[in-house]
Amino acid sequence: MSVDSVSLGSTGLDELVPSRYAVQVGDIEVLVISDGVLPITARTMATNADPTEYGNWLNDMFLPQDVLDWPLNVVVVRSGGRTILVDAGLGVEFPDFPRAGQTVQRLEAAGIDPSAVTDVVLTHLHMDHVGGLLTAGLKERLRPDLRVHVATREAEFWEAPDFSHTDMPAPVPGALRHIASRFLNEYRGQIKTFETEYELAPGVLVTRNGGHTPGHSIVRLASGGDALTFAGDSVFAPGFDNPEWHNGFEHDPEESARVRIELLRELAATGEAMVATHLPFPSVCHVATHGDVFRCVPATWDY
Ligand SMILES: [Zn+2]
Repeated sequence: MSVDSVSLGSTGLDELVPSRYAVQVGDIEVLVISDGVLPITARTMATNADPTEYGNWLNDMFLPQDVLDWPLNVVVVRSGGRTILVDAGLGVEFPDFPRAGQTVQRLEAAGIDPSAVTDVVLTHLHMDHVGGLLTAGLKERLRPDLRVHVATREAEFWEAPDFSHTDMPAPVPGALRHIASRFLNEYRGQIKTFETEYELAPGVLVTRNGGHTPGHSIVRLASGGDALTFAGDSVFAPGFDNPEWHNGFEHDPEESARVRIELLRELAATGEAMVATHLPFPSVCHVATHGDVFRCVPATWDY
């Protein structure tokens, strides 16, 4: 069968690559789903790096120097009868990013109807994490008692967001503001806030760790001696070799670096698995250390 004979249309039901990957964490079922990839200026990934050093790093990683494809992963977690969507991808309102925004059709292709989702956890309110919830017609298909969990600090932050320490391409802050406030408005009745930690289902703990945004949160799964952390935007690809490099989307880059190093050290010590939003799909890995440098060791594909 040639590639041409496979429909790569927008239904996602018969994609050449299904872009989903299942992981079991004790009794907890985890499904990593790729929302697609979006182009990002390479510079945004390491705004404080020495240009030559960063250029060498990009070369070493076989990445282009100008614009990168930035992976975008979401996760579905099933535990204790709850079906939890962690982040929702970019959505489909951005014509410049036609290869992202696939979460809804890939959920359906995985047999997960939007009405089956009992909870959504948002690591933070940047548009590549919340935009999928604003997909036209989706809200009507979600259950009326859906709960959307967001840290209180995150919801408060977006009432008057501070971009003074970020370093993003010019139109981005406006779009981020617009999407976050649209989400807060449209989902007002469903939002359930937590202060620092919330156990949402057996072995599913949402923990605010800040840095990237003041209310940025990670999701920690633990069951039957297994553990996996969804790190959201606490860790990016350059952050293993150079955890002190700033990502332009970080609202507090110094604190983000501190949070990143603390999390990577902890995961290296415990040996638990990690999944992160912007690491290459399916992004299931373990963290190794060598001195002050970290390494992402991909888990073995076992299907
Ligand atoms: Zn992100």
